[in-house]
Amino acid sequence: MKQIVLLSGKGGTGKTSVAAAFAHLAHVSASPLSAVLADADVDAANLGLVLHPKQEEAHDFTGGAIAVINYSECIDCGVCENVCRFDAILTPSMQNNGSGEHYSIDTIACDGCAACVYACPVDAIHMEPQQAGRWFRSTSRYGTLFHADLFPAQENSGKLVTLVKQQARLFAMDNDFEVVIVDGPPGIGCPVIAAASGATIAIIVTEPTITGVHDLNRTLETTYHFKIPTFVIINKADLNALALNDIVSMCSIKNIEIIGQIPFDQTITEAMRKGDPVTAYNSEARSSKALVTIWERVVEILSHTGDSE
Ligand code: SF4
Ligand code: SF4
Repeated sequence: MKQIVLLSGKGGTGKTSVAAAFAHLAHVSASPLSAVLADADVDAANLGLVLHPKQEEAHDFTGGAIAVINYSECIDCGVCENVCRFDAILTPSMQNNGSGEHYSIDTIACDGCAACVYACPVDAIHMEPQQAGRWFRSTSRYGTLFHADLFPAQENSGKLVTLVKQQARLFAMDNDFEVVIVDGPPGIGCPVIAAASGATIAIIVTEPTITGVHDLNRTLETTYHFKIPTFVIINKADLNALALNDIVSMCSIKNIEIIGQIPFDQTITEAMRKGDPVTAYNSEARSSKALVTIWERVVEILSHTGDSE
């Protein structure tokens, strides 16, 4: 079983449009692969907007824990406030316009370090796990989709990405699917590393702008660091010849294969507005034809690789 992860240095490069087209082409093209789909962009999951998933399972995701004070034990000594490095313990004077009665926890500021638990002289503080989001298994018109919602202001998106990917991978292995297509998060942070780890190949979707070149370089450094074979797709390739040339030169120097260029095409926007992968919406569109060629190259590359970890 292989894993393709789609990445981009920033949002808005067309990564999800490519992921949706791959999901469609894996299902119907002349080069089909049985695929499980994973939307690992848990901060802004939107692959479902195109795949129209029907939820089959929903599960809570427990992120970190936060401190909770038991007021029947608390003696208001203030020790917890002194040890908290995150300014998450509010003194009585900081509450109710200065007329608060007890120390309390700012649940947004609490980092879950538990220093206050160990410092409290009367064991009045304990840690409570917090639900930080939900993850789902859904059916969709192009295969089973694993996706998630991280609640606002929650951290641990890397953990949720790992969970979504693990579930997709296990489902694919248990049911003899050939590939997991992962729509990864943008950027180069912890969720990206979580999405890319164990991937058979990473495909970075970029666009020819000055920031696009910079972001591509950073994402390439990330996948290089984790030794993931990496390929590049240039979206809106005909919009800026100078920046396109910079990307082509950079990839050549780094020995990175550009597996396709997608021309600027309003059909992609129209298709997304209608909730369709562009390849399903209009197979004759210039972008669709480019994506079919790209998909065929992806299938060829995968045929020469071993299974993912
Ligand atoms: S350290 Fe314990 S007893 Fe002291 S204020 Fe904090 S919770 Fe209350
Ligand atoms: S768990 Fe850590 S961050 Fe949270 S209130 Fe206690 S000391 Fe502060």
